[in-house]
Amino acid sequence: MAHFHALIPAAGSGLRAGEAMPKQYRPLNGKPMLWHAIQPFARHPGIHRIHVVLNPGDARFDEVDWAGLESRIEVLRCGGDSRAQSVLNGLRAIAGCAPNDMVLVHDAARPCLTAGDIDRLIAEVGEDEAGGLLAEPLADTLKRADAHGRILKTEPREHLWRAQTPQMFRHSVLLRALTADDTLEGITDEASAVERLGLHPRLVRCAATNLKVTYPEDFRLAETILASRAQ
Ligand code: C5P
Repeated sequence: MAHFHALIPAAGSGLRAGEAMPKQYRPLNGKPMLWHAIQPFARHPGIHRIHVVLNPGDARFDEVDWAGLESRIEVLRCGGDSRAQSVLNGLRAIAGCAPNDMVLVHDAARPCLTAGDIDRLIAEVGEDEAGGLLAEPLADTLKRADAHGRILKTEPREHLWRAQTPQMFRHSVLLRALTADDTLEGITDEASAVERLGLHPRLVRCAATNLKVTYPEDFRLAETILASRAQ
């Protein structure tokens, strides 16, 4: 039977978050964002190992208190110069992962994932060859803007989803997808690489609370969500 592995690319510099410290180490309610991103996997009985891809020069990971979570965490110091490159380097470096095993790739910048979200992804995608991802159907009306911030036109939103993470694929399929082309340019998530193989990953509905912390104002929202669960 296939095992389920988590792969967390955490080698970014997080410049859009407007701080010198990489955003995955910025504290949220007293713990680094990366701790919150790893925690639901480390406590999930269905996850075999959590592989964290770091920048080779990362000096912060070892300073974090991982007590209670550390037993299944594996550190891979092989981050690349883009998210896709970090994921590819991580896939190649993972030890003890069979080609048939499933890999759940999750952004270090998504600290509000729940065990229930992981359960649903695994239950709905299972061992589907095309894999799948958490995503949210678009609720807002979409506007295309001109260079001056004025509306050019309204775009239809039917059948449009916002891709989130985790995104789950068989190790062999994702490795093939990320090496199918000479370039990783334009690959902003794993599903887009797998789509290049002609496969159609499954969309698994997830709440907007699984937000990606990107801009300074996102930090407070993530803290509010996490605090509401702690109560
Ligand atoms: O910067 P962004 O929020 O798009 O990054 C998404 C995820 O990819 C983060 O977890 C970040 O640490 C990771 N990343 C990486 N290697 C890079 C760039 C981003 O692991 N070179």
